[in-house]
Amino acid sequence: MIGSERIRGLRGSGDGWSLYRRARAMAEAGEDVAELTIGEHDVRTDPVILDAMHDAAKAGATGYAPVPGMTPLRAAIAERVEASTGVATAPDNVLVTPGGQAGLFTAHMALLDPGDVALHIDPFYATYPGTIRAAGGVPRAVEARAADGFQPREDDLRAAAEGARSLLVNSPNNPTGAVYTRETLEGIVRVCRDTGLSLISDEVYDTQVWQGTHLSPRALPGMRDAVLVVGSLSKSHAMTGSRLGWVIGPPEIVARMIELAEVTTFGVPGFVQSAGLHALGLGPEFEARIAAPFRRRRDLVMTMLDRQQVLTAVPAAGAMYVMLDVSGTGMDGAGFAEALLDAERIAVMPGASFGAAARSHVRVALSLPDDRFSDAIGRLVSFAGRQANVRAAE
Ligand code: PLP
Repeated sequence: MIGSERIRGLRGSGDGWSLYRRARAMAEAGEDVAELTIGEHDVRTDPVILDAMHDAAKAGATGYAPVPGMTPLRAAIAERVEASTGVATAPDNVLVTPGGQAGLFTAHMALLDPGDVALHIDPFYATYPGTIRAAGGVPRAVEARAADGFQPREDDLRAAAEGARSLLVNSPNNPTGAVYTRETLEGIVRVCRDTGLSLISDEVYDTQVWQGTHLSPRALPGMRDAVLVVGSLSKSHAMTGSRLGWVIGPPEIVARMIELAEVTTFGVPGFVQSAGLHALGLGPEFEARIAAPFRRRRDLVMTMLDRQQVLTAVPAAGAMYVMLDVSGTGMDGAGFAEALLDAERIAVMPGASFGAAARSHVRVALSLPDDRFSDAIGRLVSFAGRQANVRAAE
């Protein structure tokens, strides 16, 4: 059987995950590897949420569930969005999806025709180009520069917009940790208005902000019905495995996206939706508790970096990662990550896994308990220092 061109082409040319797989294989073979690769919490979903899931399943929520999402859940998501952005949002603005990932796919399916060019920012969350290709689009990356704190420039976006249909932005950003400023977002909105680009805003890290404030482009004047916002409980509530996310948009597009869900996912399991409703009811204090370890570990990295001269972090204002520029060691991100894994059994992601703009960086996920994390960062920093000394001696 020969797969379609679309399915064969999903991955594109590069494979940025070889280091991740090597580290996993080492860990599975029993080696003590400090894995700072993937954006997962080191805690599991809270038992009170699991109890709600269990109770819902026992009470019968195991059949087909409403495809757009249960009305109380859509209402709770709308309420949360309205409370955090100040933008009026109703249940018919909400489609519940199996995770933010399905939300990203659904949003692109809603906006692209086959062959349409879809812009995204580089560095980028690794699934973006494949998601665009899966929706029939052609990904086009727009570089955000480390020197700008990875904030995309209006001019670059304007230049790339020629012939493109959509633009996907992500703040707080994976992998860079950038939180887009009001100025950046106003520039993005201006470009969309002037060029007719449709905007998709991935806000799955909206509860993880360490510097500045999270601003949704949907909250800018006139944007309420001009952007599709993707959200999720994965990061905010440590519910990555539950697969519960959403897309917020104008009701007429949401209605179309429901039609797509009817012929693809057929919705999210009812017991997961009930757990999600319970999770949202736990309120901002719970969300702050889930985010707190990442803030702590981010601060720990920044303190350790203050005491050395080789590595720099840009800018680590949000999300559960820190991007380290390793050029001071004389290596690029990929070389550094491979050598670090060999020498110290510490796995970090090469920046190039997230696009060309991050090739001199590595991404460190803030994903280990504090003591192990602190030990790993200490050894990473010492390793970088030794590499820089070797270079200086050459
Ligand atoms: N968007 C970004 C930027 C991410 O980093 C992730 C997951 O890591 C997702 C979306 C998808 O998350 P989920 O499908 O678990 O909601």
